[in-house]
Amino acid sequence: MNPNRPTIIAGNWKMNGSRAANAALLDGIGQAWSALAHQAPSCQVLVCAPTVYLSQISEHIQSSVQIKSTSIAIHLGAQDVSTQSSGAYTGECAAGMLKEAGCSHVIVGHSERRQYHGETDTTVAAKAKAALAQGLQPIVCVGETLAQRDAGQAITVVSAQLKAVTDLLQTDAARIAVAYEPVWAIGTGRTASPEQAQEIHAALRNALTSARAAGVPILYGGSMNAANAQALLSQPDIDGGLIGGASLKPADFTQIISAAHALRAGPH
Ligand code: PEP
Repeated sequence: MNPNRPTIIAGNWKMNGSRAANAALLDGIGQAWSALAHQAPSCQVLVCAPTVYLSQISEHIQSSVQIKSTSIAIHLGAQDVSTQSSGAYTGECAAGMLKEAGCSHVIVGHSERRQYHGETDTTVAAKAKAALAQGLQPIVCVGETLAQRDAGQAITVVSAQLKAVTDLLQTDAARIAVAYEPVWAIGTGRTASPEQAQEIHAALRNALTSARAAGVPILYGGSMNAANAQALLSQPDIDGGLIGGASLKPADFTQIISAAHALRAGPH
């Protein structure tokens, strides 16, 4: 982590939740944070929720007594966005709609979208562009499969995934966030070691620097949890986390926020 770049702790709720569960989870994060500290977290905290719940969550964050009485500010992100701004695209959701629902961020190119919905690097780049056009910060996910890692191709794969985005965005590439999510570590309980993650983050940092986007935060995602967050976030090129399973447990998610907060605050 580098204090000159933003630190982002983002929960990816995936296809989980209900109106009642969402409210309980958000209030639980607020309560758990209050119990730990009274200062506002020195990192950006974000939850990326299913589209249908975005407006509910936005309203809940603004109105919940539990959250308003704490120092935590929770920002809202979506999990996908259309490449198009409106029209005959059944089932899609445009960036302007996400913005109106209260989002500030959107995940693009998550490996589950690449795997189950055939999203290509070109589609992912177009989605990032559509998000930026509406003032949403895209969190661009990149990551290699286990077979690609075993073949020694991890850096080549993630570099190509990122290049598609920076080539399309040009100077606007400086406005994105990146998440390195090794596919073999997502939802498997198998985490990249801090050294493995740092190696890829350093390569991504070099690529971003060449694209004149050196200040872009690079998050790590893949079974980050309360126990391993501190070691991962201590790495010089890891600027936060994109967290799936652990973001559904208020105490665990809050401990990850707390680890990021402590690292940003530095030794006293
Ligand atoms: C994710 O899906 O973005 C993710 C990192 O999931 P998990 O933390 O559950 O591995």
